[in-house]
Amino acid sequence: MSLIILDRDGVINHDSDDFIKSPAEWEPIEGSLEAIARLNYAGYKVVVITNQSGIARGLLDVETLNRIHSKMHRMLAQVGGKIEAIFFCPHGPDDKCDCRKPKDAAFRELASRLRLSLENVVAVGDSLRDIQAAQSAGAKPVLVRTGKGESTLKKGIPKGVPVYDDLAAVVDALLEVVA
Ligand SMILES: [Mg+2]
Ligand SMILES: [Zn+2]
Repeated sequence: MSLIILDRDGVINHDSDDFIKSPAEWEPIEGSLEAIARLNYAGYKVVVITNQSGIARGLLDVETLNRIHSKMHRMLAQVGGKIEAIFFCPHGPDDKCDCRKPKDAAFRELASRLRLSLENVVAVGDSLRDIQAAQSAGAKPVLVRTGKGESTLKKGIPKGVPVYDDLAAVVDALLEVVA
């Protein structure tokens, strides 16, 4: 089985500085859902690991987050794709939890549940903390230019981290290698 880990905001859907607080605000980035479906078809399990500090900030509750994710699953199913699991951190920056990226507890939890090493597992993100969490867990980070990606790139990222235009381009590259 192949596994790929995705950040949510700025990778699958358009990000907002005001947080994604409702299903209506969740809008997929062009081509991202189809890219996930192509991964599935090629035998990949897709898992999302996402910081959702809007919950700690009181901007949305877990029930609303679930409704947002129902919309994501529904739209994804319409193009034949599937997300296996979503790990979300509901905490804020001051909560000192272990699951908020750049911490890697969610990555390690996923690895232990699947009894899998994350070595060579690609983790796609648009922020430095996505890269840091992936590296800390031994996964293979890649950056996309969508979402906060362009500004992340300007601020500088660790050497050797591949950069792609968007999730569709990551999947193009990944599946070409497999074929
Ligand atoms: Mg993001
Ligand atoms: Zn957390």
